[in-house]
Amino acid sequence: MQVQTLRRVTIDEALDAVAKHSIRRVADERLPIRASLAGRVAASDIFAPEDVPPFDRSSVDGFAVLDRDLRATTPDRPVRLHVAGEVRMGEAPPGPLASGNAMRMPTGGALPAGADAVVKIEDCTENGGAVEVSSARNARDHVTRRGADVKRGDLLCRCGDVLTPASLGMLAGAGIADVPVFVRPRVALIVTGDELAPPGAAMRAGQIRDINWLSLDAALSAIGMAPHFEYVRDDKASLAKQLRESLEHDDAVVISGGSSVGERDYTPAVVAEAGSPGVIVHGVRARPGRPTMLGVIVERPVIGLPGNPVSALVMFELLGRPILQRLFGRSDKVIPVRATLRAPLEREPDLERYVPVRLTMSNTGVEAQPLPGSSAQMHILGFADALVRVPQGSGLLAAGTPVDAVPLSKNNAL
Ligand code: AMP
Ligand code: MG
Repeated sequence: MQVQTLRRVTIDEALDAVAKHSIRRVADERLPIRASLAGRVAASDIFAPEDVPPFDRSSVDGFAVLDRDLRATTPDRPVRLHVAGEVRMGEAPPGPLASGNAMRMPTGGALPAGADAVVKIEDCTENGGAVEVSSARNARDHVTRRGADVKRGDLLCRCGDVLTPASLGMLAGAGIADVPVFVRPRVALIVTGDELAPPGAAMRAGQIRDINWLSLDAALSAIGMAPHFEYVRDDKASLAKQLRESLEHDDAVVISGGSSVGERDYTPAVVAEAGSPGVIVHGVRARPGRPTMLGVIVERPVIGLPGNPVSALVMFELLGRPILQRLFGRSDKVIPVRATLRAPLEREPDLERYVPVRLTMSNTGVEAQPLPGSSAQMHILGFADALVRVPQGSGLLAAGTPVDAVPLSKNNAL
């Protein structure tokens, strides 16, 4: 029987304790921008190689003009200009624009040299080879200047930023064809438990279906990791052997099950013996997830999650996600949403609770509705949008209390 105790710390203290140890960033690679869509992370600061837009552009359909030609325009005394031609989309203007002339312009067309304003089609009457301009309102504002969005050399994205739809669009808009991104970290997902049978396998008496092999795989994939699954029997030597192998080949290790202080809970001892600094945290003051273990071995995170599937996923969200993101050089904590609790929740004197909720909008703001059923049930977590933090204390946390709700990750949302 191993002699171990859980020296409990809060979630924040656990993250701070791990933050004192360095974690090796993964290598980077250059990828065609299209291959960087799914949750890739920029591996360096990226600067614009081109101005966006690349030329002065019209933001309306109308006529390109010289602003000074419009000075005398009033609705009763429209200015008459000669139509000197037409700008076509995607083509250079047919020539420069001289005073007294106008050129037909589509939205997004390139302004001819000399033009510095565009009058809207609604403010113009065209007949013969001339156009009458009845109003010059906002004509200069209808020009989007070259580089108005991004100037060559501007910072487009910082090292460690997730490439979002908007940032990818901006990179493409500035002409970037390939990007430096971190490689997907290889994460060994070691699943322990002699009682486990995967779906599809025949169940022997006493066996249960293995949940974590898939839920943790999905959680890892959702934050940009490349997990691979290893099944290990509840046996100390087998776990030690697998951990050694994983530490040789992988950037991080997540172990499901065996993280507590029972006779067959080998995770903490195996991690302690596998290298330095070893176990950093064993036991958190949070439910679900008390017996969680966090370690670092030679700059690689090793996360020992309780086998209970709810505990495993909740602890992955609160601890695993921020720790693993350090493989990308990021260290952001999860940002909670402030919400109003819609039903009372029991506090616990020496633990923070994390309760699955649905988030809804009312006219007074975001509301957190605890889901009916026990928060220890996996299927309840499946319906949840977020986890509400119930601070330590006694008695009830009343309905109407403002609470922190930590959003749960969705697939491919980093
Ligand atoms: P452990 O942390 O290994 O002591 O497991 C705690 C509880 O979670 C036990 O009831 C296990 O049967 C259950 N459990 C462990 N691993 C899994 C898994 N991968 N899928 C479903 N249940 C599990
Ligand atoms: Mg077990």
